[in-house]
Amino acid sequence: MIERTLAIIKPDAIAARRAGAILSMIEQAGFRILAMRLLRLTRAQAEGFYAVHREKPFFDSLCRFMTEGPVIVMALEADGAIQKWRDLMGPTDPAQAPEGTIRRLFGSNIERNAVHGSDGPETARFELGYFFPGVELLG
Ligand code: ATP
Ligand code: MG
Repeated sequence: MIERTLAIIKPDAIAARRAGAILSMIEQAGFRILAMRLLRLTRAQAEGFYAVHREKPFFDSLCRFMTEGPVIVMALEADGAIQKWRDLMGPTDPAQAPEGTIRRLFGSNIERNAVHGSDGPETARFELGYFFPGVELLG
């Protein structure tokens, strides 16, 4: 089933100049990039995006990290895009990530893990609307 998912290249990966390498992996894996923005999140945008994690002990640190520099947000499309992108990212903790995954290659630790991906259809809808409101995603 053709799906769409929201991907973010996080501030650590942008600062380390890994954005090009990550975009290349996205293309090689066969995703279509339907929309892309580079922006620096405000604190309010980061808190709203990660609202589900508001009660977690790492919430404040996560929001600080996500606002420390620019991010690239993208709408990706592919057959089974949500799981396909999570497979290419690898698990949250880069230390647990299989060889060849983005987080294994470019992540530093469980917080500074290079990329984000929606974790289900409902989340994808919310997250795509969060960064591309009213945008027709035609690719
Ligand atoms: P993401 O939502 O960014 O794609 P994920 O779905 O793999 O990652 P979540 O559990 O949704 O992981 O956590 C969101 C983000 O919060 C993680 O990507 C990471 O940056 C940070 N994070 C998660 N767990 C921890 C933790 N135990 N300590 C510090 N930061 C964490
Ligand atoms: Mg998540």
